[in-house]
Amino acid sequence: MQFRNLKKQYEVLKQKMDEAIGQVLEASSYISGRQVAELEEELARYVGVKHCITCANGTDALTLALMAWGIGKGDAVFVPDFTFFSSAETVAYAGATPVFTDILEDTFNMDPESLERAVQAVLAEGKLKPRAVVTVDLFGLPADYDRIRRIADQYGLYILEDAAQGFGGSYDGKRAGSFGDIATTSFFPAKPLGCYGDGGAVFTDCDEWASLLRSLRIHGKGSDKYDNVRIGMNSRLDTLQAAVLQVKLEAFRAYELQDTDRIASRYAEGLKDCVKVPSVPSGYGSGWAQYSILLRDEKERAEVQAYLKEHDVPTMIYYQKGMHQQTAFQECSLYGEHFPVTEQVCRRVLALPLSPYLTEEEQQKVIRLIREKISGSKEEHA
Ligand SMILES: *Cc1c(COP(=O)(O)O)cnc(C)c1O
Repeated sequence: MQFRNLKKQYEVLKQKMDEAIGQVLEASSYISGRQVAELEEELARYVGVKHCITCANGTDALTLALMAWGIGKGDAVFVPDFTFFSSAETVAYAGATPVFTDILEDTFNMDPESLERAVQAVLAEGKLKPRAVVTVDLFGLPADYDRIRRIADQYGLYILEDAAQGFGGSYDGKRAGSFGDIATTSFFPAKPLGCYGDGGAVFTDCDEWASLLRSLRIHGKGSDKYDNVRIGMNSRLDTLQAAVLQVKLEAFRAYELQDTDRIASRYAEGLKDCVKVPSVPSGYGSGWAQYSILLRDEKERAEVQAYLKEHDVPTMIYYQKGMHQQTAFQECSLYGEHFPVTEQVCRRVLALPLSPYLTEEEQQKVIRLIREKISGSKEEHA
C-alpha cells in the first residue's frame, strides 16, 4: 500500500498530463511561459483572493512574504510549536526571532491563549517588536481565525497564513489561502495540491504587496529583470510545473477533494470508538493534507505502527518533536511558554495512508488492523 498514491493519480490523469507537458516542451518556454500566468489566475480565483504569485517552493513563499513586510532583526514572529520546520526556519532566516506557542489538541492548530500570553511576554521584556503571527493550517484544517484575528488586531500583528497543508480547506465559506494578510502554500508532491517537483505560491488581496512580491521573486526586478531596484531572490515556478498543476487543480476541484473528504469520514466512522480521530469543528472544512489519529500513548503508537508495517501499511509520524525541541532552536527564548499539548501530541500522533485514490478495500484493511491491534492489546491487559 502507498502512503499517498501519486502513481495512481498519474495513471488516472495520464492523457491530459502528457498532453499538457508536451505543450510546454513544444513551446520550449520553460520559465515564465503562459501556463504560469494562467495558473496564477486560476489559483487566485479558487482561493478567493485578488493576487496569486507563484514561486519555487513553500519555504520561499514564506520568506518572500516576510521580505515584503520588511521583517528582520529585532522583530518577533509568533509560530505554533507543532508544525513543519519551514514555518519557523524562514522567520529566523529573515533575521527575526521566532516565538513559539502551544497548540490545541482537538485541531492541532495554534492555541490563541498561548499566542496572547507570548505576545504579552515579548512586550513585557521590551526587547523585540511583535510584528506577525504565522498561522499554520495544519494537516489541512484552517486555524482559529476568529480568535487569532482579534489578537492580531489588538497587538498590530500581520497574519501570515502558512497554508502549505491547508490548500482546499475552508472556514465560514472562505478558502484557506484567504485568511492571512498574506498566505502561502506549497506544491511539494505530497501536499493536497502537488506538482512533479518543488513549487509554491503566495496569496494576497493587497496590490502593493503583490507587486513587491513579483519583484522580489525575480532578483528585485524593476521594469525588467536587468533593472534591479532591490535585493530579491530567484524563486519562480517552472512552466512545466505550472502545466502539471493546471491539470491537477482541475481534478482537485472536480472530485479529488470530495473523494478525500469521503475517505476521511470513513476513517472517522471506523475508528472513532477506539482512537482519537481528527475533529473538524463546525463551519470548517479540511483539505486533508494528513489523516492524523492520536493513540493513547507512545507505547500504543509504536505497537500499532509496527503491526501496520508488518501488514504492508505505511504510516508516518508528523511530527516527532516540537520546534522548541529542535537542535537549531535550542538557543531560542521561550518567553515563559510551555508546550504540554505539543509534547504529548508528538508522542501519540500517527498519520494514516490517505489520498483520493485510496481504495475502499485498502482503507478497510487499515481500519481492521488498527482495531485488531488495539482490542488485542486491551485483552492482554485484562
Ligand atoms: C511543506 C510545508 C512547508 C514548506 O513547503 P516546501 O514547498 O517544502 O518548501 C511549509 N510549511 C508547512 C506547514 C509545510 O507543511
